[in-house]
Amino acid sequence: QTTPQKFQKKHKQADAPPLPRQNTKTAPPSPPRIISDSAGHLQFHRVGFLGEGGFARVYEVKDTRGARLACKVVTKSSLVSKKAKTKLYAEIKIHRALEHPNIVDFQDCFEDDDNVYMTLELCANGSLMDMLRRRRRFTEPEARFFLVQLIGACQYMHTHQVIHRDLKLGNLFLDSHMNVKVGDFGLAALIENPGERKKTICGTPNYIAPEVLFDTANGHSFEVDIWSIGVILYTLVVGRPPFQQQTKDVEAIYQRIRDNQYEFPADRQISTSAQELIQSILAHDPQMRPPLLDIIENPFFTRGTFPPYIPSSAYDASPDFR
Ligand code: ADP
Repeated sequence: QTTPQKFQKKHKQADAPPLPRQNTKTAPPSPPRIISDSAGHLQFHRVGFLGEGGFARVYEVKDTRGARLACKVVTKSSLVSKKAKTKLYAEIKIHRALEHPNIVDFQDCFEDDDNVYMTLELCANGSLMDMLRRRRRFTEPEARFFLVQLIGACQYMHTHQVIHRDLKLGNLFLDSHMNVKVGDFGLAALIENPGERKKTICGTPNYIAPEVLFDTANGHSFEVDIWSIGVILYTLVVGRPPFQQQTKDVEAIYQRIRDNQYEFPADRQISTSAQELIQSILAHDPQMRPPLLDIIENPFFTRGTFPPYIPSSAYDASPDFR
C-alpha cells in the first residue's frame, strides 16, 4: 500500500545520490560531574572519559582523597530486559570476588536513579590493543613478559572456577607500570559443579575456540581461555590475529578456525620456539591444549630473554632488551 507521499519520497531517493549512512545511535546523557550512591556514602568526581564498550561507558574519576579510579557506567535504560540485568549481575558477582595483581581490581558497585556504577582500578596505559595499534607488533621478550602475567591471572581465575571466555588484546589493560590487568568480565562464567560444561555464549567473543562454534552439544570449559592465549601470543608477535588474514567476513573466519588454518608470515622472523608453542596451544581438540603451568615451562619462556619490566617508552618504540 503506497501512499502518494511515500511514493514521492522513494522516487526522490532514486534520483538523488545515496545519502551517507546516518548515525542513529543516540548517546546517553553523561553521568553527573559528582557521582554518588543514593545513601551518600561514596562520592567521586568525574574527571575524564576513558572509553566505551558494548554496553558501558568508562570514565576516569577521583575519590574524596584524590585517588584516581576508573568508573564503569551502565545506564538503567539499557537494563530493562531480564537478560541484560542477569548479565550485569553475573559480571559484578564474578569480578568483585576476584583479587589478583594482574586482574583489574573491582572496588565498589552502587547506583543512582539513572545508572549503575562500578569503580575499578585505573589502567592508565589503555589496553594492549591500543598499544599494538601504535607499535604494529611486539618483540618476543615483551610477549613473554605480558603472557606470563596473563597466564598468572588465568591460572588464578581457573582455580577459582571462573572462565573468562573473552580474553583478547582489548580486554588486557595496562597500569601505569605497564603491568597487565585482565578486565571486562562481561562474558565470564562460573563453574559451580565440577565437570559442568557451558553450552551458550552470549555476544561474539573475538578469539573464539572451535568447540564453542562447532561442538555446541558437548559444550566448552576452561580450555577456551587457553585457546585465546594462543591467539593472543600469535597476535602479539605477528601483529594481527591468526584466523583473520585478508578477511573480515565472520563466516570465513569461523571456517578457518574449524580447519585450523593459519600461517606464520615468512617476512616476520618469528622464532621456532614461539611458532611451536602457538601451534601446541591452538590444538583443535581442547584436551590436547597444554595446561597453563606447562605453557610457562615451555622453552619459549625458559630459554629467551625475559625483561624485568617494560618501560613506558615501549608504548611508542621497541625497547632494546639485550
Ligand atoms: P564493555 O564491557 O562495555 O565492553 P569495557 O570494560 O571493555 O566495556 O570498557 C570499555 C573501554 O573503557 C575499554 O576499551 C577501555 O578503553 C576503557 N576501560 C575499561 N576499563 C578500564 C580501566 N579499568 N582503566 C582504564 N580504562 C578502562
